[in-house]
Formats: sequence, C-alpha cells, structure tokens
Amino acid sequence: HNSYRIVMIGAGGVGKSSLTVRFVVGRFVEKYDPTIEDAYRIQMSIDGEVANLDIVDTAGPEEYSALRDQYIKLAAGFIVVYSVTSAHSCQAAAKLRDVILKIKGLSVEDGSCYDYPIILVGNKCDLASERTVTFEEGQAIANRCSHFTKNFFEVSARTDTNVSEIFCEMVRQIDTVEWRK
Ligand code: GDP
Ligand code: MG
Repeated sequence: HNSYRIVMIGAGGVGKSSLTVRFVVGRFVEKYDPTIEDAYRIQMSIDGEVANLDIVDTAGPEEYSALRDQYIKLAAGFIVVYSVTSAHSCQAAAKLRDVILKIKGLSVEDGSCYDYPIILVGNKCDLASERTVTFEEGQAIANRCSHFTKNFFEVSARTDTNVSEIFCEMVRQIDTVEWRK
C-alpha cells in the first residue's frame, strides 16, 4: 500500500549509488564502494500523499545475471542510468532497458512498453567539458520505448540537479500504471 519498489540500474561508475545516496541522505559521497548492492527505504510526500519508496541500488557486472532477473521481476519501476561522459554507458543503458522490457513481457510491437515506468537518466551533467552524449541522443533513446512526457532527465548527483525530480516522476508513473490495472 503506497509502496513503490524502484530499481536503479546501469553500467558501473555512472553514478547509481551517488544518485541514490544524494536522494536518500541528501549528500554527495565522493567515493562509494562499487561492489555494494544495497536497498534503501525512504518516505516522501508527493502530491499530498505519503509514498514509501524501496530503492534497490544495484551493483556488479553489466552481464545478465539471475539475481538481476529477480530484481527486475519484483520491481514496479526502473531508473536506468548512464553518464553523459560515456557513450558506452549510454549504449549499455539502452540494452539494459531492452532486457527489462523482455523480462517484463513488454514490447514495441504490441505497444505494451510505452506506458511502463522506465525513466532514462543521463547523470554527471555538471561535467560539461567531458560530455560525449547530447541531450537529444538521450531523449531519442527514451522516446523509442516510452510515451511518458517525462521519460528522460539529465541530472547531477554532485550538484543535486533534477535528482528528486526523477524519483517523484517515477512514483507518478507507477501510480498511472497501477490505477489502470
Ligand atoms: P555506480 O557504480 O553507478 O554506483 O557509480 P558511483 O555512484 O559509485 O559513482 C562513480 C563515480 O562517479 C564516483 O567517483 C562519483 O563520485 C562520480 N559521480 C557520480 N555522480 C556524479 C555526478 O553527478 N557528477 C560528477 N562529476 N561525478 C559523479
Ligand atoms: Mg554503486
């Protein structure tokens, strides 16, 4: 009841833990153990309602794993993260998004993927001089599988740009889907 199970997923080093810790604890942690996979529970008020967020900050190799499969099955929504400084991580994000859709049984062909809560996030937008992925490239990837207006954000865990916005929007999208059931 009013509980939202959200999974942070993406290539190593893109800032999944930094974004999670920024949101949950309100601080930027310079170094976070890249092997730690952790779950956080946080209560927030959104649109006048109390929401309990269970956030799983995944870690480890990008390769498909049974463990990841399990997370994907249990989750209500996904925040798929890449770094705007790494085109490789952006491609990895697109692939992970496809894996999620496949496991959830959603596809572009029958249109079932378009209102599923997956938000694509380009982190490290503070590193303007190191950017290799444009805003438009990120937006185009997000649009391929989602019809939500806010299906893509560029964010920075370091400068706290758009961080709470992604979690609020995730809750709203999950509500949209739950309400239709
Ligand atoms: P994860 O492997 O996806 O969990 O990535 P981490 O959260 O551990 O972050 C990897 C590295 O990127 C760390 O050195 C962070 O300090 C750095 N980092 C994370 N987010 C940002 C950001 O928004 N801006 C900048 N400049 N660095 C970041
Ligand atoms: Mg991490």
